Amino acid sequence: MIMEDYHIIYTPLEKVSLKNFDEKKLFHLRSLGMGTVYDLLYYFPRAYDDRTNIKTIDQLRIDEYTVVKATIAKITAPPTRTGLKMVKATAMDGTGVLELVWFQMPYLRKSLKIGEEYVFIGQVKRGYTFQMVNPEFKLMASQAKMQDGEILPIYSSSKDLPQNMFRRIVHNFLSTYGDKFCENIPGEILEKHHLPGRKEALREIHFPSNPRALEEAKRRFAVEELLVLEMGILEKRYVLDQQKSMKYVLEDKKNLVKKYLSSLGFALTDSQKKVITDIYKELSGGKIVNRLLQGDVGSGKTVVSMVLLLYMIENSYQGVLMAPTEILATQHYLSVRDTFSQLGVEVGLLTGSFKGKTKEKLLRDIREGKIGIVIGTHALIEENVEFKQLGLIVIDEQHRFGVIQRKKLRDKGLLANLVVMSATPIPRSLALSIYGDLDISVINELPPYRKPVRTKWISNYTDAGLMYDFIGKKLAQGKQAYFVAPLIEESEKLSAKSVEELYGEVRKQLPDYRIGILHGRMKGSEKDDVMERFKKKELDILVSTTVIEVGVDVPNATVMVIANSERFGLSALHQLRGRVGRGPDQSYCFLVSYTDNAVSKSRLSIMEETNDGFQIAEEDLRLRKAGELFGVRQSGFSDLRFIDIIHDVKTIQLVKETCEAYLQSHGGKLANPFLAADIAEKFRES
Ligand code: ADP
Ligand code: MG
Repeated sequence: MIMEDYHIIYTPLEKVSLKNFDEKKLFHLRSLGMGTVYDLLYYFPRAYDDRTNIKTIDQLRIDEYTVVKATIAKITAPPTRTGLKMVKATAMDGTGVLELVWFQMPYLRKSLKIGEEYVFIGQVKRGYTFQMVNPEFKLMASQAKMQDGEILPIYSSSKDLPQNMFRRIVHNFLSTYGDKFCENIPGEILEKHHLPGRKEALREIHFPSNPRALEEAKRRFAVEELLVLEMGILEKRYVLDQQKSMKYVLEDKKNLVKKYLSSLGFALTDSQKKVITDIYKELSGGKIVNRLLQGDVGSGKTVVSMVLLLYMIENSYQGVLMAPTEILATQHYLSVRDTFSQLGVEVGLLTGSFKGKTKEKLLRDIREGKIGIVIGTHALIEENVEFKQLGLIVIDEQHRFGVIQRKKLRDKGLLANLVVMSATPIPRSLALSIYGDLDISVINELPPYRKPVRTKWISNYTDAGLMYDFIGKKLAQGKQAYFVAPLIEESEKLSAKSVEELYGEVRKQLPDYRIGILHGRMKGSEKDDVMERFKKKELDILVSTTVIEVGVDVPNATVMVIANSERFGLSALHQLRGRVGRGPDQSYCFLVSYTDNAVSKSRLSIMEETNDGFQIAEEDLRLRKAGELFGVRQSGFSDLRFIDIIHDVKTIQLVKETCEAYLQSHGGKLANPFLAADIAEKFRES
């Protein structure tokens, strides 16, 4: 049987028969997360033992995997609280001091020698000065026997799979399968970017012949990884752009939009109008809309989406609005249900809480077109809801809805127009790449007369007392307040204030007011009920976890208190603060934190200084790692292994342009079956 060549590299490891490759090794590789030959050969070294690049202690950088040379000055085996056996060594090299710690390897106490020079290989951590935990080490004397210029790979591995064995396995697989890794980057792109070929690069990244070749190989795989992702996204986009959508008529015959707008009691901002007009143009031009609508919290994205949905109704199409949580979906639903039904437009709410007969009827009404606008959670697309004639899908707060999900949605063959809305202010260059499949519109102004939220960091108990007095006065004036806690349950370890504990405190401090509680463990209907009562002003105070983080809109709530605010990232704080300052009254945000941590302190100061989401996003970039970044986490870009999406924006941009050009000149076809196979694999696994 001839298996098609481009699938061979995806052979499961257990189907591999190679000399010396036994069950035990298979087991260890699997526990490192590898399933196929591809996984193994794309499991690149995390560092290299490179004699030409041994660092001195003063050159070390926190978090980096490094090879460093130093002499051991002291060895101890101090007892630990947990009972783990620990060996500790202090090493020096005249430029600094390095602390080395090994766990569960008591024999090292004897085998390490004071006064000897070693090479240590591991990740640098912040310790007393610098620290490495469980580093590999070699006597410098034996290291000297290594051939000059030889660079050895160091893999993230466990004790059970020592480096030497790991290297042999990789070597073995390379000789057997290396040639099956046929080129998956189109030739013209390879040439244009001067990249080494796949087979060569695969050898070089595992067993580099020289530092330059290694760098080239790394660059190649960074491009390759991006290419697979971007090409997968853009390919779909290209196909869509070729499709002619139906042309929507721009009349407002039933005056639905006009009537809705006049019911609002405010005029749209210029930004809102411009976005609507832009999308309008596409609709009437017969182009399928694929758009990201970015706008800071409170910029009024919801209204825009409602206008678009009503246009669909005017054109006898149905529309969908998807929100990330039941609370948000319900809120959107309640905010338009009455107005819309007065206009003769039926709105349906579909969330996970609906079961049995109610749900069946709802689904039937949607199928038959009796319901024009469906509002629900993201489960909507998973559930295979059938429509009579779907014209528009709006996704609210898309940061939980990444590129993979969008592709899935499109793969269902839905040719509906798509608008995703996001309050995540990420730098434009990054947005262009992460949302490569979408055009971008920005609402860059807030509704007029809105006063910036006044923010104060409460750092001691005296101030906390004053804060409660102040809030009491606001409540007495008929305003409402949010109190947010970071965790659901008490946890000694994190000493964070739980919702319940916070609830107790608020009740003691503000005994005269009606307090509701909201957290993730409550049932959907309970949550809705509490939220509804808060909206109706039957509750003065809402104590909650971050379930209210996105989208919730109660303009009369003008006070936000965030307990243990050092436990939130900047973007989360910004989102939370965006829950107030939504009406014409001055709003206040109190960040309660008694922290001593320098990074936390600088975060809190930034919050005090600015209300500008983009500025905060920039600071967030500076203070955090990419994977943790709001809006990036689920984009499909946060698990890139060879690229740092923050620092390699240029590469991302370049690859995106390259893909676009390629698709243009090839009529949207991928001529390379190896690339196509990799794309299929990439989007399948998630
Ligand atoms: P977000 O963009 O964060 O989703 P919303 O759509 O929830 O913002 O709008 C925030 C608040 O501002 C809502 O109470 C909404 O009714 C109000 N709003 C929206 N547009 C305007 C406008 N043009 N003028 C005044 N208020 C507006
Ligand atoms: Mg919103």
